[in-house]
Amino acid sequence: MIVKLENYNGKYKIVSLALSQVAKEDLLKDNLDFIYISDNDIRLYPENVVVSKDKNIIEKLRNAHDYDVYELWENGKFSEYYDDSSLDNYFFVTGKCNSNCVMCPSPDISRQKGGNTSVDTLIEIAKHIPTDAPHLTITGGEPFMVGPDIFRFFEFLGEKFECTDFLLLTNGRIFAVDSYLERFVEKAPKNSIVAIPIHGSTANIHDMITQSNGSFNQTKIGIKKLLKAGIHVELRIVVSRLNKDDIYNIAQMISDELSEVDYVSIMAMEMTGSARVNQDKVWISYVDAAQAAEDAALVLIENGIDVKLYNFPLCIVKKEYWTLCEKSISPDKVRYAETCENCKMKNACGGVFAGTMSMEKGELRAII
Ligand code: SF4
Repeated sequence: MIVKLENYNGKYKIVSLALSQVAKEDLLKDNLDFIYISDNDIRLYPENVVVSKDKNIIEKLRNAHDYDVYELWENGKFSEYYDDSSLDNYFFVTGKCNSNCVMCPSPDISRQKGGNTSVDTLIEIAKHIPTDAPHLTITGGEPFMVGPDIFRFFEFLGEKFECTDFLLLTNGRIFAVDSYLERFVEKAPKNSIVAIPIHGSTANIHDMITQSNGSFNQTKIGIKKLLKAGIHVELRIVVSRLNKDDIYNIAQMISDELSEVDYVSIMAMEMTGSARVNQDKVWISYVDAAQAAEDAALVLIENGIDVKLYNFPLCIVKKEYWTLCEKSISPDKVRYAETCENCKMKNACGGVFAGTMSMEKGELRAII
């Protein structure tokens, strides 16, 4: 949610939200900046100054939750960062990336010139998030593009959140560097899993997709070092036209060389950003992508490796693989087609990405 608090003209700051008296007292006790919504106005604490009297905004924010976290900008823009009612919250570290994947759902410009959230700001946000948050994701771009300062953030997370599960999304190349690996092992929150994409079973295919020479070798070395250090690892395979004939081989390679990973997620694409620009090169039908995913899933299962299928609608996947399908698309991005209204599996189905909807040409069929 984004609104404008018309009377605010101070510095950029991170604030929590309090709707109830209990949350207000809690946040005062914790000495955190927060916004309190009363029936008549919106106040910034601990200063206790009125920042808005707009009834529409009061009404809108009444639908938010105690302990949500917002960014409050110099011009009064008030935008949600953390939703305390959701399991889908993430820290966005930077848009920059040292790879340049052809099917990346982010645009090229953000990987080249994307902004960073400073480590101090990330820590300030984390200070405002309740310690009982069940799950938090750390993502980019490539989070390690901000350099070793990121370890201050990991250290803070590790000290504050003892019960939270963390998912770190990274291309994994940095873990080929021993000094980074060692500091990560030392500083990472204890319930962390590192999710790393593998795009091909060979350097030729992987590096063609990442458009970064040497990335395959670095990623593989990084994964092996993480596993050796006892770090939990998820591997991700995104199925595109460029690797659909290699998905089976990737599964075989994982089974042969990286079988200690926690699980493998095989994913359908989100057709935004570079994926959309390169759609002629990367798009394949859901049916073709699911076929490749199912064949690979079978190899992994036969080798005792857990598999999840992300972003595949149930009507595309053979029934015997439905138990592998996750509702993986976040609520703000998920869409259903007209035919879905008649589908008896709609509640269990993860739907399709908003950005992929227009690529689907009549493949979805209501299950009745
Ligand atoms: S018809 Fe729609 S709701 Fe049903 S399985 Fe397909 S995508 Fe999901």
